[in-house]
Amino acid sequence: MASSQIQKVIYGTHELTQIEELKKKFEGFAKIRTEAVVETQKVSLPIYSFQFGSSDPQAPAIAFVGGIHGLEIIGTQVILSYLETFAELLHWDETLPALLNKVRLYFIPCANPGGMLLRSRANPNGVDLMRNAPIQATGISPFFLIGGHRISPRIPWYRGEKSQEMELENQALERFVRRELFHGSFSLLLDLHSGFGNIDRIWFPYAHTSKPYPRIAETMALKKLLDRTYPHHVYALEPQALHYRAHGDFWDYMCLEQIKATPTVPFIPLCLELGSWAWIRKNPRQLLSALGVFNPVVPHRHARTLRRHLYLLNFLIQASASHKKWAVFSQEYRRSLELEAQTLWHSD
Ligand SMILES: [Zn+2]
Repeated sequence: MASSQIQKVIYGTHELTQIEELKKKFEGFAKIRTEAVVETQKVSLPIYSFQFGSSDPQAPAIAFVGGIHGLEIIGTQVILSYLETFAELLHWDETLPALLNKVRLYFIPCANPGGMLLRSRANPNGVDLMRNAPIQATGISPFFLIGGHRISPRIPWYRGEKSQEMELENQALERFVRRELFHGSFSLLLDLHSGFGNIDRIWFPYAHTSKPYPRIAETMALKKLLDRTYPHHVYALEPQALHYRAHGDFWDYMCLEQIKATPTVPFIPLCLELGSWAWIRKNPRQLLSALGVFNPVVPHRHARTLRRHLYLLNFLIQASASHKKWAVFSQEYRRSLELEAQTLWHSD
């Protein structure tokens, strides 16, 4: 269709409006909390969490988080697309209650609404929320700004002042993770981003060092489960440090805090990094706008992205609910998973 050459997907504030509409739609079906309110010069922006499923605090949990980087709007849209489908399923799918009975399910569609409103990667204070946690990477040159710096909020990847607490958005996210994911029998989280590479990657900790993280055996077991269940899946599952290291990674920080607080709970925080270079390669003109660097702007590619990851979200919910089938193993098998992970991801 010729018009697809000029027609573009419009990104902007309607995601925040859509979240408000979903809030109304889910009344009576979900526990909806305001985790924090971000004040900008013109408006107050709530950060909402939606909870479904079991009320048993010992039940396994899974959370989906989007919009930590305000420019990466497609991550929020993938979650909203899933929630729209989920709202329909709640009305007619008679198999869904049995699944929800087994798992606690959480969604935070937009964790940085101020950044999304301002069309900025950072929050309204100019701080990159994924460089803002109190954790220092090893082996990074001070000139590698992408890894986080304290030079100025005018330069992307700004960590914030060393003497200050984490930003309000991260404090809210930390409270949420501690409250909902530090306890129970098993916890999984998927944080949606876009912008790196030609393919869709699922990153796990660490970002601050190339050493294996404490949940490496469970993560290798999850990779094998995904490979067996969906042999034609599109994802590369890897530690983030395999590509680059960064200071202040929020999920590295949460991972270390969780090990200290509740060491027996397996907590696996994953990031889905949608490969935006593939969209740019097919439509180089979109490089002319900041949103175009991080989001698909041609309508058919946008629609494809919204449906492409739905099975991954379903898989992770099912895997959490049934974690005893694949994430509980003998010391001997744990050792073999660790060796396999060492060979695949950490041999350097
Ligand atoms: Zn991001």
